[in-house]
Amino acid sequence: MSAQKVVVVGGGIVGCITAMMLRQRGWQVTVVERNIIAAQTSGEASWAGAGIIFPLLPWCYQDPVNKLALEGASRYPGLAEQLHSETGIDPECLRSGMLVQPPFDLETALAWCKRNNVVAKLQGEELFLPDVLQVRNPRLLQALKAWLEQHQVTLKEQTQLLPLPELEIGEQGQLKRWQTTTGEILEADMFIVTSGAWSFDLLKHTALSLEIKPMRGQMLLYQLPKPITNHIIYRDGFYMVPRKDGYLLAGSSLEDVGFDTGVTDTMRTEMQTKAEAILPQLKNASVIKHWSGLRPGTPHNIPTIGQHPHISNLYLNTGHFRYGVTMAPASAALVTALMCGDSPNMDATVYQCKV
Ligand SMILES: Cc1cc2nc3c(=O)[nH]c(=O)nc-3n(C[C@H](O)[C@H](O)[C@H](O)COP(=O)(O)OP(=O)(O)OC[C@H]3O[C@@H](n4cnc5c(N)ncnc54)[C@H](O)[C@@H]3O)c2cc1C
Repeated sequence: MSAQKVVVVGGGIVGCITAMMLRQRGWQVTVVERNIIAAQTSGEASWAGAGIIFPLLPWCYQDPVNKLALEGASRYPGLAEQLHSETGIDPECLRSGMLVQPPFDLETALAWCKRNNVVAKLQGEELFLPDVLQVRNPRLLQALKAWLEQHQVTLKEQTQLLPLPELEIGEQGQLKRWQTTTGEILEADMFIVTSGAWSFDLLKHTALSLEIKPMRGQMLLYQLPKPITNHIIYRDGFYMVPRKDGYLLAGSSLEDVGFDTGVTDTMRTEMQTKAEAILPQLKNASVIKHWSGLRPGTPHNIPTIGQHPHISNLYLNTGHFRYGVTMAPASAALVTALMCGDSPNMDATVYQCKV
């Protein structure tokens, strides 16, 4: 299988980690990205996210979500260390821990943590999970980009692929070529769609039941003279993530507004009120940035990972909704195993593409 040509469509965290793993297996990889990798341009989820490497309340999710998330989380320290040492860019993978404040179902939470060997400490009515990690998304993307460049992965930026028309599929159900918006034709042995919220648009003519739609998340960034908390705090659908240099992220909204990447004053006020209720010191701090990103929303947070049912050389790794950063190393490993013909280390059937 080595030295086969593969085109990865989408240069977010999922696409970049998939490209990295395919390259490590000897593939000749091209990443096609309609914007600039590692830049904040128009709603890419990976730049916008908070970088919590854990599901917010895992005991509320189905096993396929937690399986990928916990496997992804276990791979982060090694991945971050490798990227840091090989590129000099530190993705800041920190074991900052997460404090979960009421309301939540304490009994179910404790039982889930015990079953999954997740360390949990009761602090009054609050639950502290000391091993929860965080990463700094823009730095993770910069490190991944640098690694890909160092390892001869071709990065075709500002290049957008057109939705795949049915006629591009050959008689044996093979995709021969894929056209960009400027008329350029890309040819490869394999293609993989890692296009986040835009994945349905790309594949809507290929008879695939792909339930992915954009779900906007707005986020605030505070700047403080010094950190006021060392750990992530979660309360009632809202969280805050402290960085080690005094920045603090607060978010986020969950809005079904199509591909609108705007931000709203109403949401800013709502999020500031929630943040100040948890950490009153924030009343005197300034919000220095407010942005949004489009999550690739799926019905139960379950991504689609696997071979297209009708096109044998087209794979998907997309639809990670709220946990794509956390899941990316695990879902990239899974799709890489499937593309290389290895037996995967987890049951892939629940993630496979549906007709
Ligand atoms: C506010 C917010 C907070 C979040 N917090 C967390 C968190 O704490 N932890 C966590 O695990 N997850 C979090 N997430 C979710 C996570 O960010 C996403 O699940 C993940 O980034 C999805 O990655 P992706 O690479 O699939 O998508 P994206 O990052 O959106 O990448 C897809 C890429 O494909 C490109 N593309 C699209 N169409 C085309 C085309 N036709 N041709 C070429 N390129 C194309 C896009 O430009 C884009 O760069 C958060 C998301 C948001 C918005």
